[in-house]
Amino acid sequence: GHEVAAETTDGRRVALIHHLPCGECARCLAGHESTCDEFRRATITPGGFAEVAVAADFIALPDGVGDARATYAEPLACVLRAAERVPQGRVLVVGHGFIGRLFAAVLRRRGDEVFVRDTEPGRGGRDTDGPVDAAVLCAPAGGDDALGALQPGGTLLVFAPAAPLDLDAVYRNELQIVGARSATPRHMEQAIALLTELKLPEPTVLPLERFSEGLELYRSRKALKIVFTP
Ligand SMILES: [Zn+2]
Ligand SMILES: [Zn+2]
Repeated sequence: GHEVAAETTDGRRVALIHHLPCGECARCLAGHESTCDEFRRATITPGGFAEVAVAADFIALPDGVGDARATYAEPLACVLRAAERVPQGRVLVVGHGFIGRLFAAVLRRRGDEVFVRDTEPGRGGRDTDGPVDAAVLCAPAGGDDALGALQPGGTLLVFAPAAPLDLDAVYRNELQIVGARSATPRHMEQAIALLTELKLPEPTVLPLERFSEGLELYRSRKALKIVFTP
């Protein structure tokens, strides 16, 4: 319920902002806005699945973006912010679900050579043909393999709650590990501007009454992304 397209009481279509950094503290200024103390407070009440909600901030949606696609603004914003920490070049995306596909689209757009990997047969794609400059971990597993795929000096971006990693490779190959979590309003604006341009996976759209069915489709990995409509 934190990826929300909504209509304001005066009829404007908007994407809601679910957490807000203060923008002024040391962590915000260092670019770690999602660790700002202010950021802990949810700014959509009672939440994104409510028929009526109060939001502290929102961003206008262009007419060309449909409601279902508009819910991608938030995850895409998280990916855009995270991608700023990924060096350009040959990049391996581990976990080719919805988020992995957003990463692949964003990285390709900026000119990277992108490889993908997923434990589930049928979800993978073109895997690596040699060492990569960077890897993006979008799944809880596969971190050690991702470290093993890196060139010496390469970077692993952790974008999911990850299992323990074997740090010996980090020491021997002088690797970098960075994390990124969530987004800022600035990245939401960038994401909204890209929503029509990027080739992104289609969602499964269901009415809110079919919530548990949608959840089951997602958990059983039969659907990449579920969007509920009121
Ligand atoms: Zn702050
Ligand atoms: Zn999200």
